[in-house]
Amino acid sequence: MTRTGLAILDYARKLPEYEPRTKKMKTNYHTHHAICDGKDEAEDYVRAAIEKGFDALGFSSHAPLPFANRWTMPKEKFSAYCAEIRRLREAYAGRIEVYLGLEIDFISGEFAAGPKARTAQRRPAGLPDFSPESSLSWPPAGLDYYIASVHVFPCGPNGYREVDHTPEEYEAIRDEKYGGGMRAFAAGYYAYIEELVRRFRPPVLGHLDLIKKNNPGEKYFSENSAWYKDLVRGLIPAIAEAGTIVEVNTGGLARGRTTTVYPSPWILRLLREADIPLMLNSDAHVPENLDAFFDMARAIIREAGYTQLRVLRAGGWETAAI
Ligand SMILES: [Zn+2]
Ligand SMILES: [Zn+2]
Repeated sequence: MTRTGLAILDYARKLPEYEPRTKKMKTNYHTHHAICDGKDEAEDYVRAAIEKGFDALGFSSHAPLPFANRWTMPKEKFSAYCAEIRRLREAYAGRIEVYLGLEIDFISGEFAAGPKARTAQRRPAGLPDFSPESSLSWPPAGLDYYIASVHVFPCGPNGYREVDHTPEEYEAIRDEKYGGGMRAFAAGYYAYIEELVRRFRPPVLGHLDLIKKNNPGEKYFSENSAWYKDLVRGLIPAIAEAGTIVEVNTGGLARGRTTTVYPSPWILRLLREADIPLMLNSDAHVPENLDAFFDMARAIIREAGYTQLRVLRAGGWETAAI
C-alpha cells in the first residue's frame, strides 16, 4: 500500500472519534477584570460574553498573595468579589451561566520551606513568612473551581520575580537564580509545576508552558531541544495521576507575545496520548478578548486528536464537543 493509501486508512479509522458526542458549548473560565489586573467591571464581561454567544463564563481573578504585588486582588476585596460574581449569576440567569473561580498562584516551598529552611538564603529578606498551603488552600470554600498557575520565582530584591513579566525580569531570574543557565531555569519552572500538581491536584492547570512567553523567536531556548522536550514529557504522568484538566490558553496570542496557544501543539499531542482532558480559556483581561483566537485554538486542539473539551456546569464538570 502506498503512503497516501495508509494515510487515508488512518484517517478513516479516526473518523468515528470525530463525531461530536455531546453538544458544542462556548465557554471561558479564565477571566480577569479590574479587581485584579484586568480592565473594566465584571458585568462588562458578562454583557460582552452574552453578545458573543457564550453559554458559560467563569471569573478567575488572581487570588490575593501574602505580599504586595501588582497583579492580584487585595485580600480585603475577596468578599466583595465573591458577592459581585454571585449577584451577576442571579441577575443574568437564563441568559448565561456565571461561575465563581480564582487563579491561584502556586508559591513553591522554596519560599518558606519549614522552620529549618527559614534562613536568610532560603527566605528572601522582606518576604512575609508563609507556606505554599497559605496561597493554595486559603480561600477555596464556596468557589466553583480554581485554576492553579506558576508565575513567580523566589529571587531578587523584592523576594520574587515573575516569569511572564518583562524580558529583563526573565533574564534576571535566569541569571540570579540559575547562574545564567536557561536549561536550569526551565527545569526549575517545570519542577514547580510538578510540585504544584502532585501536592494540590488542582482542578485546572493554568498556561502549562508560560515560560515560553518571553521566548519570542526561540531567543532563549528551542522547544525542539531534546532536553526541553524531556522536561515537558517528565511532567505528563503527574498531571495524569492528579486528574487535572489542562487549559488551552489563548492569552499569549491575544497579547501578541506568543505565536501559538499555551501549551504548544506538540505538548497537546503528548497530553492526548495520556488521555488528559483539556478546557479552552482566553485568559481575557479586556472584554473584547473573551473569545480571542478561539477558532485557531479549536483547530489546534482537534489536530492534536481531541474531540471533546471539559466545561463546568452547575452540576460539575462535563464534556462538550469542540
Ligand atoms: Zn496566569
Ligand atoms: Zn490569568
